[in-house]
Amino acid sequence: MGIEEVKCPKCGKSAKVRSYSSINLTEKPKMKKDIIEGKINSAICLKCGSKINLRSHILLSYLEPPKWIWLVSKKHQHPNYQQEFLEKIAPQTTISTFPQQMVFVDFGEPCKGLELILSDSDPKCCEEWLELGKIQSGYDAVESYKSALRIDQRNVEAKKLLNDELDKLKTYT
Ligand SMILES: [Zn+2]
Repeated sequence: MGIEEVKCPKCGKSAKVRSYSSINLTEKPKMKKDIIEGKINSAICLKCGSKINLRSHILLSYLEPPKWIWLVSKKHQHPNYQQEFLEKIAPQTTISTFPQQMVFVDFGEPCKGLELILSDSDPKCCEEWLELGKIQSGYDAVESYKSALRIDQRNVEAKKLLNDELDKLKTYT
């Protein structure tokens, strides 16, 4: 961790932001709360109030058993991104044999889906499956929306999101 100086994309005033490229959650379990509440990788410009995000991705890691969770900016949320990322942006990580997961978040905003993932609890209701699906992409998101519909088959939002995701899969593959 360090302090990084960044320029506001709107007004150009510089701001100091705590910067992380990765966070080990086995060593720093208390960071979970900040991550879920959207308090990492983001600052508000003191001059114009714009949101400043430092990075487009941050690695969350666990030891024993090892697990990696990539937090990626929502602007990259499409079904092919994980593969692209592993091939082009972080190719050295493809050789790891432990589980890797990718979720898409709006840095600076609280995220309920992330809370489910970081507390390691399975979604229990239709709403929670929806929250999970919204931070996933591709077949993972499809499975979450289907699970939501298994609980409440009349849920309009789940139906819409499922169809949108299936359309995206057709477009990207
Ligand atoms: Zn500004």
